[in-house]
Amino acid sequence: MLMRAALELLDQNDPLAPFRDRFALPPGVIYLDGNSLGPLPRATVGRVMKVVTQEWGNGLIRSWNDAGWIDLAGKVADGIARLIGAAKGSVVVADSTSVNLFKLLGAALTLRSGRSVIVSERNNFPTDLYVAQGLAAFLGGRHTLRLAEPGAVMKAIGDDTAVVMLSHVNYRTGAMHDMAAITRAAQDHGALMLWDLAHSAGAVPVDLAAADADLAVGCGYKFLNGGPGAPAFLYAAPRLHAELRLPITGWLGHAAPFAFETEYRAAPGLGQAVVGTPPVLSLAALQVGVELALEAPMRGIREKSLRQVVLLAELINQAAPGVFHCITPIDPAQRGSQLCLSHPDASAIMQALIARGVIGDFRAPDILRFGITPLTLSYTELWNAATTLGAIMAEGAWRDPSFAVRRTVT
Ligand SMILES: *Cc1c(COP(=O)(O)O)cnc(C)c1O
Repeated sequence: MLMRAALELLDQNDPLAPFRDRFALPPGVIYLDGNSLGPLPRATVGRVMKVVTQEWGNGLIRSWNDAGWIDLAGKVADGIARLIGAAKGSVVVADSTSVNLFKLLGAALTLRSGRSVIVSERNNFPTDLYVAQGLAAFLGGRHTLRLAEPGAVMKAIGDDTAVVMLSHVNYRTGAMHDMAAITRAAQDHGALMLWDLAHSAGAVPVDLAAADADLAVGCGYKFLNGGPGAPAFLYAAPRLHAELRLPITGWLGHAAPFAFETEYRAAPGLGQAVVGTPPVLSLAALQVGVELALEAPMRGIREKSLRQVVLLAELINQAAPGVFHCITPIDPAQRGSQLCLSHPDASAIMQALIARGVIGDFRAPDILRFGITPLTLSYTELWNAATTLGAIMAEGAWRDPSFAVRRTVT
């Protein structure tokens, strides 16, 4: 039996506790959805205000040079590179994760033009699969998307495989792949390895260089706390830069954008991945989130995250014994930073929870998903969240008809 006092004690001794105050969380809310939209860092408010009023308002177009707008994406990218074990210059911040997937998957298929299979997982995040389907159709239907069932990725990789495209941490279950082992398997078959780090960057230790990953993409608005629709990032191993040809060739990816030449010439290194004009306001917000993530010790984040996932599972089982089925792997090495529970009425239950200030999310068809963000989440909040969930189940509060209607965004 876990007692509240034990959680209070963990909070008193939590070295990450001071980070909580760096975020502006509304009172009365327990936020378990930082894996879907990270909370607002306090410093972001002033930073964005400054960019809007001074740099845009007063500086006008001069700010591209004077306020360093043109270098901003590169600076944020260098910060993200440090977070994910990538060499300086091997990360570009631009576009959305979906668009970056298209760019890198397209480049990978060009690099492996003699091969026709894209390997992924059936339960991968839909955008990854949709992008692969769209690209395959665009390329004339020559490519096949081979979807492995959970746990069967290795067997799906063969000598016909051009690229293996996987999410490092699964959005729906929280299961985490062994990045180095799968990368090696892909490369042993002559394929390229493309990782989606949407639920990894800022959440779990990632070392792309150590894993010798070829390509990766990731998200700015989840654990990096960059704000709604924040720009995404992409990675390509330095050894690939010279031969990499992306399928979107825009003017800011040109070797000399302000020469306004007629013929496209790719910028050196990974510069071609910039494509178009960067979203400066969003980048300013993302920069604050990334700098905050760099201040926090990843080791400490990981330790607290692993502990919090287990504690939340235990507390929920204590408050509502046997009601939910845990689908997040028990083995710490195989899970990211979320707890996922299945229940046939998950949608209504999650809406009832949100109505009481405990914000997680629902993933179709039957999953209650709780994101664990150690920089803001206290141990006592886990107790309160579990107790609230227990009360909702005991009272049957989720049966209220107002919770039966699915929201547009879940
Ligand atoms: C959230 C998420 C995305 C998001 O893609 P966007 O294009 O930024 O909307 C992509 N892949 C995975 C695995 C995700 O979890």
